[in-house]
Amino acid sequence: MGVILDDLYDHEGYGARRLADGTLTGTWPSASATFECYVACCGCGWHGGDHSPTEDGYESAVEEWLIDHARPLLARAVPDEITSMMHTFERAIAALMNERPLAGLSALRSLSIWASATVTRAQTSLAPTADLTPEVLAREAPDRARAHPAHPQWRAMMERSIRPRRLPPPGLGL
Ligand SMILES: [Zn+2]
Repeated sequence: MGVILDDLYDHEGYGARRLADGTLTGTWPSASATFECYVACCGCGWHGGDHSPTEDGYESAVEEWLIDHARPLLARAVPDEITSMMHTFERAIAALMNERPLAGLSALRSLSIWASATVTRAQTSLAPTADLTPEVLAREAPDRARAHPAHPQWRAMMERSIRPRRLPPPGLGL
């Protein structure tokens, strides 16, 4: 009944009806035929503001969910396809490391170089155009506020992630 975005399957947005006793309902039995307003809601428990008890109000509630809740989460949601590909890659590298450790190490070094360069490019492009402010994240997804480029913990994490790491010489310790 609600709206679900690809790669954000745990969040279903809809306009709940606020009944006279304050109850929010996503189902519309006859008892809720009269209601005070629509409220932007998500299946995860998030809810936003009140909207008029009209069809336009329902659309406005869903739009609030989309802009203030779903899009910020989607911006950081790794697609299932990518997660699956990473797991496949990890298994393939593990198998290669068992069979030919030097080749596995070479593949990991190449990946590390590519990842570091990509992270640097992403940091550069994200910082000036990030559409999420730390305040929005803190309000809508406090557990994700640390992921904002302006947050000191995020910066520290990114700096750690791109710091060159010393790999053991080929053939040692593998
Ligand atoms: Zn949600």
